[in-house]
Amino acid sequence: MDPEVRIQQFRQMADADPENELGHFSLGKAFLDAERFKEAIKPFQRVIELKPGFSKAFHLLGVTLDKCGIRADAIRTLAKGVSVADEQGDRIPRDAMADLLREWGAPVPAFKETNAPAAASTEGVQVDGFTCLRCSKPSGKLPKRPFKGPLGEKIFEHICASCWGEWIPMGTKVINELGLVLASQQGQDSYDQYMIEFLQLEEVT
Ligand SMILES: [Zn+2]
Repeated sequence: MDPEVRIQQFRQMADADPENELGHFSLGKAFLDAERFKEAIKPFQRVIELKPGFSKAFHLLGVTLDKCGIRADAIRTLAKGVSVADEQGDRIPRDAMADLLREWGAPVPAFKETNAPAAASTEGVQVDGFTCLRCSKPSGKLPKRPFKGPLGEKIFEHICASCWGEWIPMGTKVINELGLVLASQQGQDSYDQYMIEFLQLEEVT
């Protein structure tokens, strides 16, 4: 679709339903895609006003501000965005924002400890006598615990690297589809439960 037509459509959407963040978000994105960076700032700022937990809006606002040559504001926005995304368990925007900050040589706020596998290696290590509890194959073992704590330890002991690798995209799906907030105990517990079922770890947990 013609970018100007998209902008027009989303502008109408945002005007017609000004309290709906999605119209503003789409409008901001349409401006960004059309490289009309300055005009993208306001819509993204409005999204964040309406929905302070909308982590993807922080990401795109940061990118937009940088494109406008205001990197100091871009850094502030992304640093806030990393914390917001981390709080919500939105790992994909969180990691994308953290990568940008690193690229710019800016400090990255520390992530909270969660059981989310941030960048787990799925490269297996051959260990004599190891059999995966889930696939019953003597596959490669994980090189180390995928995360801290007793559950991470059990996975390391019983689950092969390839089965763990299957869980990672599934875990992201579970978080997104169920809207789990990993910073909350309840969200973390549900997430762990799905992981235990998927990896067939019931008998050892
Ligand atoms: Zn396995």
